Amino acid sequence: MDSGFDILIVGSGHGGAQAAIALRQRKFAGTVAVVGEDPELPYERPPLSKDYLAGEKPFERILIRPAHFWAERGITLIPATQVVAVDAEAHRVTTATGGHIGYGKLIWATGGHPRRLTCSGHDLIGVHSVRTRADVDRLVGELATTRRVVVIGGGYIGLEAAAVLTKLGKPVTVLEALDRVLARVAGEPLSRFYEAEHRARGVDVRLNAVVECIEERDGRATGVRLATGEVLTAEMVIVGIGIVPAVEPLLAAGAVGGNGVKVDNHCRTSLSGIYAIGDCAAHASEYADGATIRLESVQNASDQAAVVANAVVGQPEPYNAVPWFWSNQYDLRLQTVGLSIGHDRAIVRGDTASRSFSIVYTKSGRVIALDCVNATRDYVQGRALIVARAQPVPSELADASVPLKSLAALADARATDA
Ligand SMILES: Cc1cc2nc3c(=O)[nH]c(=O)nc-3n(C[C@H](O)[C@H](O)[C@H](O)COP(=O)(O)OP(=O)(O)OC[C@H]3O[C@@H](n4cnc5c(N)ncnc54)[C@H](O)[C@@H]3O)c2cc1C
Repeated sequence: MDSGFDILIVGSGHGGAQAAIALRQRKFAGTVAVVGEDPELPYERPPLSKDYLAGEKPFERILIRPAHFWAERGITLIPATQVVAVDAEAHRVTTATGGHIGYGKLIWATGGHPRRLTCSGHDLIGVHSVRTRADVDRLVGELATTRRVVVIGGGYIGLEAAAVLTKLGKPVTVLEALDRVLARVAGEPLSRFYEAEHRARGVDVRLNAVVECIEERDGRATGVRLATGEVLTAEMVIVGIGIVPAVEPLLAAGAVGGNGVKVDNHCRTSLSGIYAIGDCAAHASEYADGATIRLESVQNASDQAAVVANAVVGQPEPYNAVPWFWSNQYDLRLQTVGLSIGHDRAIVRGDTASRSFSIVYTKSGRVIALDCVNATRDYVQGRALIVARAQPVPSELADASVPLKSLAALADARATDA
């Protein structure tokens, strides 16, 4: 193949699909193609560890748009095609089969590949990651012959998978290397809450767990051996230990980056005419005190897609959206707004025992994030506190009878007075 497009988007996940949609919404009239290594039409990933895994939502319902949408909008989809190299000077990419595709501007939206275990047994039959439809279909196909499951990694994806499989009646053990689950993304009160919720449903949550290897028989996983020598029998091992951003071709082409490709606040990489968005894009975030971070969320992928589309159509607007995220486990809906990185105080608002509460994170007195469990009102109202950089009195934040919007109004009034 040796063709060219005005806009070539690499990656047919959330960011890539939303960038193509956003371009057409802004009346971009040039040619647009989305090339992705996944064989499927663009689909949502969050349900993969939630209702799709549970068998409660068919694949058609997790498509980002129905099949007919793309052709109707003049968006060319090139599935099952991996881009392996980028020539930023010649404005063309090379695919794994040796084909070339030219571009006017390139949008790199490749997300990441699941981080693999490095111990022996990491590639056995029965060892799974949860990143693609194919991953989940393979896993579900083995459930009938699975008696016990070990989940390695107590992050959101691991815990969501543990919740679904527990509901499906499988005995599940969660192995977390650190001393609490969700340690990288949430404060201690939230970690302890989820740890207790999983344990209450029979999940064997093991903290400070060091995996030595996966045991096998005839090429199939039979269990997980811990550094202590204990072997946990399991026919299925789910590995949820994060992702490695898929940026090798861009870095090889000379883009600045490392853990992700570095972008400015218009999602421009250091290479002319090349943008990057979503999980693979490392950007300076005002919600992390200017630190360069990668966000792995639908919000970030969608909002950065809009930023790139605005830049392409000549109406640039910098990226500074407030981060948000959600996670569903059992009957618990967690909604997060802001970034709790670097907080020096985690204030519990309400009673965790009621299973409807929030945790407000502050840094030097300023509200920087909220984790809201079955507390949508706090989630909606708390956002304004973050945007206003409000510094409410901690005792008022902790008092669930004081609506957050009244504290936000107070912050607004103070800002006007100042
Ligand atoms: C199981 C699961 C549950 C999640 N739950 C939530 C949630 O509840 N809330 C939330 O906000 N976020 C959630 N996320 C995260 C969210 O889905 C991602 O942040 C989002 O999909 C990022 O979009 P993206 O376009 O950057 O990457 P992706 O959606 O991962 O898309 C990247 C695409 O690029 C393709 N690709 C990679 N390299 C190449 C290459 N060289 N050539 C061609 N194609 C390539 C990949 O195959 C993939 O299809 C979840 C993710 C997973 C996996």
